[in-house]
Amino acid sequence: ERTSPQSFLKKPHADAHIGKVFGVVSGKGGTGKSTVCAGLAYALARLGKRILLIDGDAGLRSLDLMLGVGGNTVYDMADVFAGRCEPVKAIYASPVSQNVFVMPAPLALDQLCSPQQLHRLAKGLSRYFDVVIVDCPAGVGRGFETAIAAAPEALVVCTPDMVCARDARLLSDILAERSIPARLIINRLRPRKIMDGSMPDIDRIIDESALQLMGVIPEDETVAVANANGRPLPLYCNAALCFSNIARRFVGESVPLAPLEKM
Ligand code: ADP
Ligand code: MG
Repeated sequence: ERTSPQSFLKKPHADAHIGKVFGVVSGKGGTGKSTVCAGLAYALARLGKRILLIDGDAGLRSLDLMLGVGGNTVYDMADVFAGRCEPVKAIYASPVSQNVFVMPAPLALDQLCSPQQLHRLAKGLSRYFDVVIVDCPAGVGRGFETAIAAAPEALVVCTPDMVCARDARLLSDILAERSIPARLIINRLRPRKIMDGSMPDIDRIIDESALQLMGVIPEDETVAVANANGRPLPLYCNAALCFSNIARRFVGESVPLAPLEKM
């Protein structure tokens, strides 16, 4: 009953600590923002949290497919702001994970709403979820401005190379100017390459980005396969365990970083 998209609006949460909105951002494209949104949502759902993913990447939407609701959607965010439907109609329950919901992005960039509109929507919806995650477009253009307006906190996704780390730094400066607290997720980590010295280690990426680390996700082909098929990661693959660690840190547990040789 809880996975029915219509039923959630009836149950506002009483707990004041929940209902937080996070933006997932990156300087460069293709770092894995949408992958992190989906992986984190599934992992938080396994901790009993109720998650709404808002796809803020207008024109390049991907969360509907990644979550297995693609093809079955009738309404999206653009319909909400055009007054064609209530927000609840544009929210779809993931068919593969209880407590994960997604609002698809507008199909075209010119259907994007204003930053104030998205802010109001996310804030309103956050009353009905434990966490609202906004998947933001890469870079710092209009799409980013709109999406980040909805998010008082951010996760910056970065791949383990110095170019991406420098972009993360630029982004972290922009977020700091706006007093948006941000933490770093390093995705596509290749532990063997770090151990043999051919790729920068985690500390160098953290230093260059000037962000506090939230967690790391290894390069793992099961991630690409899960994404391609709209399925959650198999429970015990390395990437899923890393997402689970990040989710536990997210809810306030102190979870040490897994050693490189175990990733
Ligand atoms: P973004 O949303 O930042 O553009 P995506 O989440 O769409 O990036 O990821 C880009 C591509 O990289 C996708 O094909 C995805 O499957 C792949 N990918 C992302 N993270 C990983 C990972 N940890 N291991 C393997 N492939 C990954
Ligand atoms: Mg994306």
